[in-house]
This record gives sequence, structure tokens and C-alpha cells, in this order.
Amino acid sequence: MLWDDAKVHVTGIGWPALTAVFEGVRAYKARDGRATYLFRYDAHLARLWRSMRFMHLFSRWSVEELTEATRGLIEANGVIDDLYVMPLAYGMSGNRGVTAMDAQPADIYITTRVVPSKFPDPKPEAVAVSSWTRINDNIMPPRIKAVANYLNSRFAQSEARRGGYDSGVFLNTQGKVTEGGGECFFMVRDGVVVTPPTTAGILESITRASVIELLQAEVGVKVVEREIDRTETYFAEEMFFAGTMHEIGPIRSIDGFEVPGGAPGPITRKLMQVFERVVRGEEAKYASWLTKITLD
Ligand code: PMP
Repeated sequence: MLWDDAKVHVTGIGWPALTAVFEGVRAYKARDGRATYLFRYDAHLARLWRSMRFMHLFSRWSVEELTEATRGLIEANGVIDDLYVMPLAYGMSGNRGVTAMDAQPADIYITTRVVPSKFPDPKPEAVAVSSWTRINDNIMPPRIKAVANYLNSRFAQSEARRGGYDSGVFLNTQGKVTEGGGECFFMVRDGVVVTPPTTAGILESITRASVIELLQAEVGVKVVEREIDRTETYFAEEMFFAGTMHEIGPIRSIDGFEVPGGAPGPITRKLMQVFERVVRGEEAKYASWLTKITLD
């Protein structure tokens, strides 16, 4: 369906959005421009299924059908490029979405647009610890990719930008570092990469899992998942964000404390190079992470 032809009832705005869960997925263009590769679409759809399950929604389409629909969408657009793909599921029936009884069938739409990658030279960011606390598992679980969770992100991101920073980093109710509004947090201390565990109040991020694997297997550094104190970050040798939209985003300072050697540091730089090769289909070892789409 063409963008301008889409129709949805006006009452679909507002309350039904309470149930909306989604995925943000990137596709990366091969350097020769002949194909674009959806990155870990299976993992994204598996997470969408978990998010739907939590919302008492179910899909009327299989993973294979949604994957083929996405392929068809990209082919119909005829654009082989760096893309951002967003499948979004929501339930329109029920009591304004407030009460979930029996599981209901979700409506699902998928959109795509060109979003150029920031590789190979993303701009290092100045970040600040947010005065807003991260939502937690017993309030609104950050593990679920629910649209409503992004209200919390919006508060932190707006505060950071209005305060002259590029991004905010949330602490959880225990005062430990969690993540950014839309990306995971990593730091390097004593040559070891450290990132908060998925029980800290973060999304079960697909980039995070991929980065942990690549850091260990390809960059050759140790990765530890553990709680992180705010002030530890002030002494980090390197810091970076990781997420679909953000990709690998070097951090140059936090709360005004500059990373000593400048950003990106050597580990972040190496990771970015490996990651870009993987996502652009240049590492056969990781071919199973990619869904190839061509117009031939
Ligand atoms: N944390 C949050 C809050 C996010 O919105 C995202 C983006 N989906 C991430 C982390 C990164 O997750 P992923 O790597 O799966 O995109």
C-alpha cells in the first residue's frame, strides 16, 4: 500500500496505542549497492512475539509471512539502501486497551524508510545522567518494546537536549546505570568491557547481544555484565552506546567528564569496523544474521 493511501479510523489514535509494541530494524546496503541486508530479523520478530505475548496480543501471521511481507515491502519500494524497518503490532478492540482478558489478534503494519548509517565516523556524543529514573520491571517492563515505554525515554532525551547534551543515560531505582532512551550503554574499565545486565531495567537489545558476541570473538576483549555505578563511568577509558538506530555510538563525555584519550577509543573503533563489515554482508561467519534483499 502506498503511504498516502493508508487509512485508519481517528479513534485509533490515543488509547489503542497503549497496547502498541514494535520493532526497529536496520537493513544495511552492501558496499557495491546490489543488495541490502536486514539485520537479525528473526531475533527482532522473536522479541516482537514476546512483546505481543506480554500485551495479550497474538499475530495472525507467521514469522515467515511477516519476513516475506517485509521483503515484499522493500522490493515494492525499489530502494536498495540503508533502511529502517518498523513492524508495529496493536490491538484495537477491548476496553480502551486498559483491560486485557482473552488474547486478541493484533493488527500489524510494517513501514520502511531510508535512514543512512552513521558509519564509519559517527559523531562522539556528550551525555548526561538523567534526572529521570528508568521505569522498572514492576512498573512498565523495559524488557518489552512497548511504545508507551518511550514516554520515559522522551523525558530523558528532551532533558538532555535542552541541557545542551546529545543524550541522556538513565539510572534505575537502585541508582545503577541502565541505558539511554533508545540504546544500550557500554564502558571500558581496565581493558574490560562492562555493560549492565538485562535485569538492570533495560531492553533485551539485539545490538547489545551482537556486540557482546563480536567483542569477544572478533575484537578479543573480555565482556562483563554487571551493575555499574554512576561515578565509575567518570573514570571509564571508553564508553559507547549500542542500538539499532544508534548503531555503535562513541561517547566522549558524561556529566562533563571527558574520556581521557578522546572518543572513539581503540576498542570502540575496532568494534565499529567489525560491526560494519558484519552488517554489510562482508563476514561470511555472520551470514546467518542477515536476510539478503535484492531487486534482481
Ligand atoms: N534500549 C532501548 C530503550 C531501545 O529503545 C533500544 C532500541 N530498540 C535499544 C536499547 C537497543 O535495542 P536493539 O539493539 O534491539 O535495537
